Amino acid sequence: VPVVRAQSSSGYVPDSKFYKVEAILRCGNNSLICLPWRVSQVSSALLKIGIRGVTVSDVRGFGAQGGSTERHGGSEFSEDNFVAKIKMEIVVSKDQVEAVVDTIIEAAKTGEIGDGKIFVVPVSDVIRVRTGERGEKAEKMTGGLSDVSSA
Ligand code: ATP
Ligand code: GLN
Repeated sequence: VPVVRAQSSSGYVPDSKFYKVEAILRCGNNSLICLPWRVSQVSSALLKIGIRGVTVSDVRGFGAQGGSTERHGGSEFSEDNFVAKIKMEIVVSKDQVEAVVDTIIEAAKTGEIGDGKIFVVPVSDVIRVRTGERGEKAEKMTGGLSDVSSA
């Protein structure tokens, strides 16, 4: 299977300094249980490129997978048509979005129905609770991707 690169968009709309990359990913084999190794596969790939700030949640979703041959009857939004997924949210500066998207695809893709979807969402501001810093100062992490790539 050839590596499919995420379509690169030079201008996200609306323009923002920061974006949240929100990925809803496969976490098991169409089951109600998330396999922990799938989550660490993606998070360690992110860590390797210097992404240290990640929020993960267990979610349940309904997408094309629910309408595939894998589903067990019924197409309405009934309880059994929701499949366990993992949601990863990563807030990064604009110039880091494509690297994060590519890394997630590389680590999470199986090529089978149900691999998931990634949303890129503009973020208005970032505030660090401990210090009250805002914007770039709050978003930048010591030892983070911007430090790694400027070193
Ligand atoms: P401090 O320096 O005060 O420790 P910090 O910037 O390291 O602040 P944390 O307090 O470690 O931030 O962050 C709290 C939680 O916020 C993290 O566990 C993670 O879930 C989430 N988080 C932090 N940064 C990001 C980010 N850039 N993208 C997504 N989630 C993040
Ligand atoms: N943009 C931050 C940095 O380069 C990293 C953000 C993140 O890890 N989510 O320091």
